[in-house]
Amino acid sequence: MSDNKNYDVVVIGAGPAGYVAAIRCSQLGLKTACVDNWQDEDGKHHLGGTCLNVGCIPSKALLDSSEHYYQLNNEFAEHGIKINQFSLNIAQMMARKNNITRQLSSGINTLFAANNIDLHSGTGQLQENNRIAVIPMDSSAQHYVLEGENIILATGSQAMDIPAAPIDNKNIVDSTGALSFTEVPKRLAIIGAGVIGLELGSVWNRLGSKVILLEAQEEFLPIADRLLASEALRHFNKQGLDIRLGARVTSSSIGKKQITVSYQDKQKQKRIVVDRVLVAVGRTPHTKNLFAANVNLLLDEGGFIDVDKYCRTNLPDVYAVGDIVRGPMLAHKGSEEGICVAETIAGNKKHINMNLIPAVVYTLPEIAWVGKTEQVLLKEDIPFKSGIFPFAANGRAKAMSADSGQLKVLSHAKTDKILGVHIIGPFASEILQTAVIAMEFEGSAEDLARSIFAHPSLSEALHEAALAVDNRAIHAINRG
Ligand code: FAD
Ligand code: NAD
Repeated sequence: MSDNKNYDVVVIGAGPAGYVAAIRCSQLGLKTACVDNWQDEDGKHHLGGTCLNVGCIPSKALLDSSEHYYQLNNEFAEHGIKINQFSLNIAQMMARKNNITRQLSSGINTLFAANNIDLHSGTGQLQENNRIAVIPMDSSAQHYVLEGENIILATGSQAMDIPAAPIDNKNIVDSTGALSFTEVPKRLAIIGAGVIGLELGSVWNRLGSKVILLEAQEEFLPIADRLLASEALRHFNKQGLDIRLGARVTSSSIGKKQITVSYQDKQKQKRIVVDRVLVAVGRTPHTKNLFAANVNLLLDEGGFIDVDKYCRTNLPDVYAVGDIVRGPMLAHKGSEEGICVAETIAGNKKHINMNLIPAVVYTLPEIAWVGKTEQVLLKEDIPFKSGIFPFAANGRAKAMSADSGQLKVLSHAKTDKILGVHIIGPFASEILQTAVIAMEFEGSAEDLARSIFAHPSLSEALHEAALAVDNRAIHAINRG
């Protein structure tokens, strides 16, 4: 560190991209500061950004609670368990969720302290010459400036608004609002049947809401493999989620007790009347006021900070990671970028594989994939073989009464290298990780086929699908 700099690295943002970058920088011997301004409704500062406070973790906490409730209502009887009386306590469910996020967030404070990372609770702005102006969250405190040899921008994203349904966080809410309803809305409209719409739609549907999802696109989950998307749509419809495709919301009006949402589909203008609306139409990068007007930081056409493969911006020694840069808006992608930048700053070998970022939708069944879909392989004219195995033929899935879904392995027709793995089924997110590792090691379907999988386990479906690539699945009829 040169004499006129306070830090080797100043990170702005303590979400999964920023806090992970800060920890790794510090582990590598770099004097590190992190500036973050997340605050809860009481104005208290909590680390962990969107992911921990109002994203990945609280949504999974509610998915888990609502799944228990759903099982109690629909599945326990099959196991011979009869419970005569039970009730739903939303306040307790929310308290549990909040407790989980608070525990994890204070865990990051502990990690920061253990790694000697200086935490600055406030809003940071990049100025010329790697200076960061900080406005402390404590409004009585003086503004001050930090200097860093290197700067990592990790300010994340925020929910997108649409003029047809402006968010008031009372009647028309974003995902943060839908993670803290105080009662189950009788009728809930969700604008956007993407990941948030499906996950939070599942939560409230399981808890008793009549959920209608209005999705502008004609195709359901277009980024997923068609096999997964069509099976998922079938399950969601069966569960009672009313998913209307090709439905573009045109306006909304808030009445005394209900909200009217108007939308246009292929045939005509239609409207629905509901008690709450969740707008889940995507997120935008959080770059407002992030850099001073005289700082020539380049943004791309989508408003994301323009970076190269290794997250370097156009300014020397200024990096950007996570949701504010291109690529999927996923916590693990941001964290990996944070580590890659820390290694770069420390002069180590940098590595990040943007082709193998796992994607998961935490519905019932879960949907998870890595690599290329069948439709992309066809479009790119890459010759491939495919092996599919149904969970209905997996002993563990049967024992769990969770035997819906299937698993597909795609491998190169000539080299057999695995090109994609697509799963809809129980604990798809966990099974997928074996495939990610196999693909990171450039493994073939044959490699998976020759590995021994524990019995009975859900992962045996991956083994069988890999065998099926070569028409030699054992517990299914090979039709190739
Ligand atoms: P963020 O987590 O948004 O953190 C940015 C931080 O920077 C915040 O603390 C913010 O307050 C702070 N900040 C912003 N501007 C400034 C400034 N000028 N000065 C100081 N601090 C600033 N992803 C998954 O991978 N899996 C999931 O299951 C998942 N579920 C999700 C569920 C929901 C409901 C939502 C909304 C998102 C979900 N995501 C999920 C996406 C995930 O939350 C984001 O991809 C991830 O949080 C991005 O990390 P980040 O560090 O880039 O930004
Ligand atoms: P998304 O991009 O997944 O889905 C938004 C959907 O809204 C799209 O299907 C889009 O076609 C539709 N849409 C857009 N404008 C519309 C309109 N006017 N009317 C009707 N439909 C419209 O975005 P999201 O669900 O808001 O999630 C935001 C981000 O958070 C995603 O990038 C996702 O990666 C991340 N996230 C991830 C997870 C996970 O990994 N499990 C969970 C939640 C959120």
